Amino acid sequence: MKEKKKSDVAVLLDYAGNRKGLTFLGLFFSAVSMLLSMAPYICIWLAARDLIAAAPDWTLARGVTRYGWIAFAFAFAGIALYFAGLMCTHLAAFRTASNIRKQGVAHVMKAPLGYFDANASGLIRGRLDAAAADTETLLAHNLADIVGTIVLFLAMVILMFLFDWRMGLSCLLAAVISVISMFTMMGGKNAQLMAEYQAAQDRITKAGTEYVRGIPVVKIFQQTVYSFKAFQEAINDYSEKAEHYQADVCRVPQSVNLTFTEGAFVFLVPAALFLAPEALADGNLAGFITDFVFYAVFSAIISTALARIMFASSGIMLAGTALGRINKVMEAPVLKSPDNPKVPHGNKVEFQDVSFTYDGSETPALSHVSFTAEPGQTIALVGPSGGGKTTAASLIPRFWDASSGSVRVGGADVKEIDPHVLMDQVAFVFQSSRLFKASILENVRAARPDASRDEVRCALTAAQCQDIIEKLPYGMDTVIGTEGTYLSGGEQQRIALARAILKDAPVVVLDEATAFADPENEVLIQKAFAALTKGRTVIMIAHRLSTVVGADRIIVLDKGRVAGQGTHGELVAAGGLYARMWADYNKAVRWKISSEKEAK
Ligand code: ADP
Repeated sequence: MKEKKKSDVAVLLDYAGNRKGLTFLGLFFSAVSMLLSMAPYICIWLAARDLIAAAPDWTLARGVTRYGWIAFAFAFAGIALYFAGLMCTHLAAFRTASNIRKQGVAHVMKAPLGYFDANASGLIRGRLDAAAADTETLLAHNLADIVGTIVLFLAMVILMFLFDWRMGLSCLLAAVISVISMFTMMGGKNAQLMAEYQAAQDRITKAGTEYVRGIPVVKIFQQTVYSFKAFQEAINDYSEKAEHYQADVCRVPQSVNLTFTEGAFVFLVPAALFLAPEALADGNLAGFITDFVFYAVFSAIISTALARIMFASSGIMLAGTALGRINKVMEAPVLKSPDNPKVPHGNKVEFQDVSFTYDGSETPALSHVSFTAEPGQTIALVGPSGGGKTTAASLIPRFWDASSGSVRVGGADVKEIDPHVLMDQVAFVFQSSRLFKASILENVRAARPDASRDEVRCALTAAQCQDIIEKLPYGMDTVIGTEGTYLSGGEQQRIALARAILKDAPVVVLDEATAFADPENEVLIQKAFAALTKGRTVIMIAHRLSTVVGADRIIVLDKGRVAGQGTHGELVAAGGLYARMWADYNKAVRWKISSEKEAK
């Protein structure tokens, strides 16, 4: 038998854990409170009946006050129960929202580091926060209102037929027209239009944010036309969709809906006029007037009920959006931890026939790559941009896992090493290395939480960070990003290098492009590099051939394949891609020297 798909709301409710029951209790209270809120209308009918019977000597209608008190008691009990219900649904909703956050964060903690390149922490936090907020609104308010409204509607229909079905029907007719016009606005092919309208709304928000974020780039490179274009297109598209949706889809049904919601008695008055002669003939004028008074008052709650339906149904849509956001976070790949972890012996790094394809990409970023870095050697990865250097380097600290083949550190496949052990074994500094919004001390200490202040200070000194520490108001206790303490790109890189130095890992993976962060820092960064790499096994993504010459081994990567490997001398002699790159480099150097000479 086909398994029944769980509704979005049911899936969200599972996050409530042991407070799930409270939601149902809250919904029950909400339903009962709606039933209680019907009682005062019956009291109105009873009071009207007694008054009309007693007229014109009102003193005879002694029970009226009692009806008033009963009505008050029911109304009060209804409100109290409604609050009790809301209390229950809120308790469950808060737990659900916090569990969504906790479980989402717990899940992304298991994701490989590479995942965070495309999914910045702000984006993940944004998704979880929005999902939690939507869920909170849905479970704390909307769900109780939906259940309450259904009960209210059923009770309303019963009451409508209780006293005079013809007058009841005339009130109901207005409600039915109202509901039909509302559904024509939201259902069928209009639902598709509504989805398009909302998508356009999302696009305009996204394009707006991108535009604002990109203002520095726009100003520096004067990319006005290009950057305006995406934003402008989003605005045009949105205004077109909004206009079409409002003018062609909503105008008529919404007008009809509002007319009949607000004027629920529009059929009641003609119905009463039609029925009056008959009541007069039957001699039941008092009963007739009593019923009319009741329906005239009662029709007022129809608009409340209908407004609730509309509001609550939009809440159900929230469930879908919230779940979509949660699923986006939960779709993050999980880095598998080995059941029987292996311990690396030594600091050799090996690539054995490694291939890797990024998710969603057709062509492999690496195919059949093999090379070895003996302990203490410096290996340079070189090659044209897009050749696969960054990808190869990022497989060592398991930013991603190789699709096939094996990346080994100390003789063990990185997938089989306990992730904590691997992190102790490998230090890495990539261009994307980021600092946290914490003190410099904490930022550096993240590499080794038990390090003392002195050890951190030594690492900062080795990474040439003295000038940064000296200029900051609280030295290394200064929190980055507060009180106007912003570090330049190069300064941030030096702190990241201090972090890697403190880690004191025997294997170092780094991107030389770090040194290009800003020219004033370059000399200092080169010195920090030297402190970091001394006596270690180094895999370096090299961009300048001048740095590569001294490497123990050079791996040339082109289109994801090894296009040659050896020492500088061997590769130049072999006359392949590397020899051509070397010749180009020398030509460029000669041009530079001769143009400098001419300038003099
Ligand atoms: P290099 O560092 O030599 O410039 P990369 O390792 O960055 O090369 O890129 C190798 C190939 O993988 C390129 O074709 C690039 O477009 C692709 N690539 C890199 N990062 C990603 C990613 N996150 N998702 C999909 N493809 C990627």
